[in-house]
Amino acid sequence: MIGAMTDPVPHRAEIVVDVAAIRHNVRILKDLVSVDGPVQVMTVVKADGYGHGMVESAAAAREGGADWLGVATIDEALALRAAGDRGPLLCWLSAPGDDFAAAVTAGVEVTAYTVAELDEVAAIGGARVQLKVDTGLSRGGAGRADWRALFAAAAAHEAAGRLRVTGIWSHFAASDEPAHPANDAQETAFREALRLADDAGLDPEVTHLANSAAAILRPSSHFDLVRCGIASYGLDPAPGVSPRLGLRPAMTVRARLVMSKAIAAGDGVSYGHTWRAGHDTTVGLVPAGYGDGIPRAAGNAASVLVGDSLRPIRGRVCMDQFVVDLQGELPPTGTEVILLGAGDQGEPTAQDWADAVDTISYEIVTRVGGRLVRRHVDTEDTGEDDTIEGTIR
Ligand SMILES: *Cc1c(COP(=O)(O)O)cnc(C)c1O
Repeated sequence: MIGAMTDPVPHRAEIVVDVAAIRHNVRILKDLVSVDGPVQVMTVVKADGYGHGMVESAAAAREGGADWLGVATIDEALALRAAGDRGPLLCWLSAPGDDFAAAVTAGVEVTAYTVAELDEVAAIGGARVQLKVDTGLSRGGAGRADWRALFAAAAAHEAAGRLRVTGIWSHFAASDEPAHPANDAQETAFREALRLADDAGLDPEVTHLANSAAAILRPSSHFDLVRCGIASYGLDPAPGVSPRLGLRPAMTVRARLVMSKAIAAGDGVSYGHTWRAGHDTTVGLVPAGYGDGIPRAAGNAASVLVGDSLRPIRGRVCMDQFVVDLQGELPPTGTEVILLGAGDQGEPTAQDWADAVDTISYEIVTRVGGRLVRRHVDTEDTGEDDTIEGTIR
């Protein structure tokens, strides 16, 4: 794996995404959910593929067997179509003024939460639309009191040939906590919604409820399709789950040490001198900061791998750079620094960063970017032309 990561002309700081890991993870998820009969897999590639690059992640997911792709916005869906994806594709978060007609023309399935949205979609003609019901997250989707009205309106539009209701779905609030009582309650509510939809005469092609955690931990929630985001990128949707399944983190963030030097006992480090050397030591400068999505809260909290050694961040993370304690050593300028990765060389994982700054791995990988160059590699590919690169917008 590291062979492909070791670029002869390394960037100052870069994100390396192994698309083979995404392909592998999607295959594992597909096999896992299909144990008791066929269940389709939707790979969720919203938010630029959770920071991994939407188009490249989508292509890898399709190769790994993803039946569907899922995104939040119509713009994301249209970008996938513009990049050449032609498969089943669902989006689920529209705002007033969004161009449903463009989505429908591009063969994207859209989601309606309300009768007003359904009416708007019906007016286009020919839409394939899915209905989202709120079963307890209290986020998007029709509230329980509105289910009957939504289903009745959908059935009327369908009977008049104005649209086709292809799916009914919902989303969990606490699937990462399998024992949380909301899980049973939501699944029960979802089954009730499906009964009401059936009573209204709807006959959707797919019904779905599970995200990554539920796909892995809650087979009763699989229905026809599971929507997997975080696990597709090899990160843990719930503590301890991903390594057990053999999922592989796809993202490595690395940089080159810019300088190393000695500081004296008592010297303060970085803005505000929130850390002072207790004794003479050496420090190194890493050229990535909160302008690149490195959390400022990681100051005095996270560590990175410099050469072969784990080194703590000292003082505040700045906009463009941060300082690590080299504990007496003076590695040369250009020494590789791995900020995060799969963990197999001793580097911190996205989960380690999340733990250090009190967030979730989703936020760590999705926010890293800024000026970093993102480079895609394919460790399963034997061809020559295996890197694609671009600066992140
Ligand atoms: C983001 C998202 C998912 C994916 O969730 P993971 O926990 O990353 O698997 C699934 N469904 C919906 C509606 C989402 O917004």
